[in-house]
Amino acid sequence: MTLQGESIKQAGILILAAALLAMAPRVLAHDGPHGHAHAAAEDPDISYTVHLSKEISDIPPKRVITVPNVTLPDAGELRVLKGDFHIHTLFSDGWVWPTERVHEAEENGLDVIAITDHIEYRPRLNRGNPGEPMLRQKDSENYNLSVEIAQKQAAANKKAAKNKSELLIIHGTEITKKTMPPGHFNALFVQDVNKIAAVQDDYWEMFAEAKRQGAFLLWNHPGWEAPKSGGIKKGAPTTFTEIHEEIYRRGYMDGIEAFNGKQFYPVVAKWCSDRNLAAFANSDIHLPESRNYGLRNPRRPVTLVFAKEKTLDAVKEAFFAKRTVGWAAEMIFGQERFVRPLFDACVEIKKEGGRLTFVNRSSIPATIKIGGETVKLGPLATAGTGSPSAAVPAGIATVENWLVGKGKPLLVPLE
Ligand SMILES: [Zn+2]
Ligand SMILES: [Zn+2]
Repeated sequence: MTLQGESIKQAGILILAAALLAMAPRVLAHDGPHGHAHAAAEDPDISYTVHLSKEISDIPPKRVITVPNVTLPDAGELRVLKGDFHIHTLFSDGWVWPTERVHEAEENGLDVIAITDHIEYRPRLNRGNPGEPMLRQKDSENYNLSVEIAQKQAAANKKAAKNKSELLIIHGTEITKKTMPPGHFNALFVQDVNKIAAVQDDYWEMFAEAKRQGAFLLWNHPGWEAPKSGGIKKGAPTTFTEIHEEIYRRGYMDGIEAFNGKQFYPVVAKWCSDRNLAAFANSDIHLPESRNYGLRNPRRPVTLVFAKEKTLDAVKEAFFAKRTVGWAAEMIFGQERFVRPLFDACVEIKKEGGRLTFVNRSSIPATIKIGGETVKLGPLATAGTGSPSAAVPAGIATVENWLVGKGKPLLVPLE
């Protein structure tokens, strides 16, 4: 053994000894962790800080909790922003304070959200705890308050973390009718929800007031099965009723949810194309996010917005130009004129040595069928067809989980 080898061996023994010594107090201290219990017993009034990171250091870091880093390339001149435009708080029937919605969205890497508390249904304020109101009377009458609280939090978070771009908060609300039609509509980019609440007996008046304020109107969860609270009958088809035709004709429908919470309405992708409506995938979240989708779950529904820049004005401009697609449950859906450029920006197709190779520059998965072959292209992954000797299949690739209509996958020609 060389001298160097000997010193390494000695060092190894020293490390082992140190490790044994470190274990010793734990083995000996039967009456409390790390001797704190002794101090507390001597002086019952003493306080101390428990260092949780130390206490749980024995657990191997098998599952590292990370902020989902969703990668999306820009589509041409446009930025692809990630948003959720249907969110509830304690100011209607949600279960969290508006500030938490800001933290949740930031941890999920979203660029923009809308706080959309119900106007007509605010059980936590009106009927939550009789005799124990959550707010002063004058505050509970202010329908703008949940948005204002969220906006303040987003600004504070930006200030606290330098160089961080601010989470954009859209001033929104949910027009909530107990019958379908019309069901529920989000009014996004409103100026003053109180003025819409003032005419809540007539939904035509509510739409008109929202439009006077320049709002974008979104038909929420068209296939929501809940006949007692304003949804459709269980098992009933998702239909564009006569009333919805009238709403659309009067210019009170700009967008529509193809995905809400955990529900997908396949027919909506067709409606978006036929009527030039913006497609949305929103959470409509009421619970804390971790209870709804798991801890910092990147699978939360996301609406992708093709915006000229990351500002509220640019998002609004993109909405009215209908430049959105939904992304949820590992599917993309919306109008073909936006789904196709997104695919082109995300996936590069290369011909290499007699086979096709797909390079995914995004976090969106794609299941691609070519001839008899299926290529599963994961987030930020590269995958190819068959063996190198196989001939490049001619014709068209079908992207099965990118939908441009009801049961209509995106077709990509291969030159
Ligand atoms: Zn709703
Ligand atoms: Zn809702």
